[in-house]
Amino acid sequence: MMADEVSNKLLGGLNRIGLAMRSAAWGEATESGLTPTQSQILAFIAARGPHSPRSGDAADALGITPQTASVAIGALVAKGLVIKVPDTNDRRASALRLTRQGEVAARVATQWPQFLTNAMQELDGGEREAFLRILLKFIHRLQADGEIVPQRLCITCAHFQANAHSGRNGGPHHCALINAPLAEIDLRLDCPEHRAAASEVAEAAWQSFARRGAAAES
Ligand code: SF4
Repeated sequence: MMADEVSNKLLGGLNRIGLAMRSAAWGEATESGLTPTQSQILAFIAARGPHSPRSGDAADALGITPQTASVAIGALVAKGLVIKVPDTNDRRASALRLTRQGEVAARVATQWPQFLTNAMQELDGGEREAFLRILLKFIHRLQADGEIVPQRLCITCAHFQANAHSGRNGGPHHCALINAPLAEIDLRLDCPEHRAAASEVAEAAWQSFARRGAAAES
């Protein structure tokens, strides 16, 4: 089968999953009374933990305009799910915090649709690890092409050391922040402790990560 034909099949499959996810997001939005953007902002604030983000951080992370973020945040404040507090780094600016009710709504918003968790059960450990590697490659490329906003990936983190271990003592990778080996399956797609590495460092880490994958596939 031609490579293009396979690519078309894969992209068609991805498109179907994307449609199902969009439909689930709108269904959930109708049920919860929140728009998908409002749900994403709640999930984003929750993921920041104690680091209360600003409105602009939410816009950047979700790839939406500041105006769209501002309208959605205004609605969340009006619903009593989010409050604005002084930013600890700049008292003149305000940061976003979830109320109790907002924490509950965020937990609901961050739950995966049941159809996806059911489908994930079909994958065994090796398939999940392979899937994670493929996702990382996709996200890395989309990020490099400017199609999605930068994600907080291990591979682009200043604390990440690719292929730092032989594998006998865990690894093969290493997180310098927690000073511990990282297995491939432990690589994070959205780590709150992520610190962006300099571009040449991130590129070297990516090359090392990709080389190992190529060696494993050959
Ligand atoms: S701090 Fe987080 S993103 Fe960075 S290497 Fe460690 S686990 Fe990965």
